[in-house]
Amino acid sequence: MRNQTVLISGASIAGPALAYWLSRYGFHVTVVERAPELRPGGQAIDFKGQTHRTVLERMGIWAEIQQRQTGKFDTVYLDDAGRELAIMPGEFTGGDVEIMRGDLSAIMYERTAARCEYRFGDSITALTETAGGVQVEFEHGTPQTFDLVIGADGIHSRVRRLAFGPEQDFVRHLGYYYCVAGAPGWGHDAARRERLTARAWNAPGRMAARGGSKGSHLYLFASPELDDIRGDVAAQQRLITGKFAGLGGEVPSMLAELGGLDGFYLDAIAQVEMKGRYTAGRVALVGDAGYGNTLGGFGTGLAVVGAYVLAGELAMAAGDHTIAFARYDEIMRRYAKIAGNSNAGRFMAPRTAGGIRARNWFLGSRLFGLMMKIGNRAANDIDLTDYPALV
Ligand SMILES: Cc1cc2nc3c(=O)[nH]c(=O)nc-3n(C[C@H](O)[C@H](O)[C@H](O)COP(=O)(O)OP(=O)(O)OC[C@H]3O[C@@H](n4cnc5c(N)ncnc54)[C@H](O)[C@@H]3O)c2cc1C
Repeated sequence: MRNQTVLISGASIAGPALAYWLSRYGFHVTVVERAPELRPGGQAIDFKGQTHRTVLERMGIWAEIQQRQTGKFDTVYLDDAGRELAIMPGEFTGGDVEIMRGDLSAIMYERTAARCEYRFGDSITALTETAGGVQVEFEHGTPQTFDLVIGADGIHSRVRRLAFGPEQDFVRHLGYYYCVAGAPGWGHDAARRERLTARAWNAPGRMAARGGSKGSHLYLFASPELDDIRGDVAAQQRLITGKFAGLGGEVPSMLAELGGLDGFYLDAIAQVEMKGRYTAGRVALVGDAGYGNTLGGFGTGLAVVGAYVLAGELAMAAGDHTIAFARYDEIMRRYAKIAGNSNAGRFMAPRTAGGIRARNWFLGSRLFGLMMKIGNRAANDIDLTDYPALV
């Protein structure tokens, strides 16, 4: 076996999924995660169809995901007087099975911690590729050489920046921002399986929702690119208060609650565009780092399938990254197309009153059911290879 040592950056979904498979194939895996510990909570994510299920079954975690699922939320769009305008069904946002990102992360971490080395609270700062490996420098740890380095560090991937180039070359702003705040409506109570609802209000280019599985508050608004205020919660709260002033329904009381909410997070709705090449030399990208589309609805399935394919191809090529990475690029180039087709901002917060009416009509029409079917078919549009037996 060539290329025994693999460094993965990011311990959310794609990172631990890849760590699972690589360690089972006999690679020595180190995972470096910027956060000081495994990040709990986060928004709800979902899986759709047989392909996702097959990979999760092969990982042996399907049953536990079922046990810890949220139960899904319908989103009811209301007018200012509280009248129902349209319903976005839980299957659209929650697929076949919906689970909190932090819960899924924990399930995968538990199955990999004994075989892989996790280093929390650290991050890669420099990558230098040589003929025999990649020299890696860290914010805190001592420099080390690995055979391969994998970026599983999300849409703002630092590995992508270091190995491929600046973020603006690969991340396209889709004209909207989202903000989630507060614990999700179901309150992390796995025993609650009844159908729950979120309530949502629209104005042109804006949507505010209360009580869903993404967070107790979810805001979406149309905007050209803003200065990066990730991490500055006070600035984010001011921005949301300004953008959503004047909306009706429960929005004024939501804004009054903003200051007391935990888990505030605001970011652009954006799409990663790698033009079909997710690998460069001894470095590869998996998950949102390579093919993310914020709130696009397919990110988690893509991350898990991508990890399965990347590890399987490396095992099948006996660790020869030149063969495995070329195959991974080829397979994901086709499958990851699914991430490119949607802009959640445009759908959830249309820019005009006419657009909002049309979206509401569409949600109640047979065309919507058809759109869901097409999306679900695309999530399954890959022939999963049976890779070598695990060790
Ligand atoms: C509000 C919201 C709702 C969503 N809803 C859905 C949904 O319904 N269905 C769905 O399928 N997907 C959904 N997604 C997308 C889903 O969360 C991602 O596709 C999925 O988490 C991809 O996982 P990942 O591991 O590739 O990246 P991420 O989950 O983004 O994880 C990246 C990890 O890398 C770490 N990291 C970042 N930078 C560094 C660094 N420099 N060094 C070390 N570590 C680093 C981060 O701390 C994090 O742990 C949603 C996303 C958002 C934001």
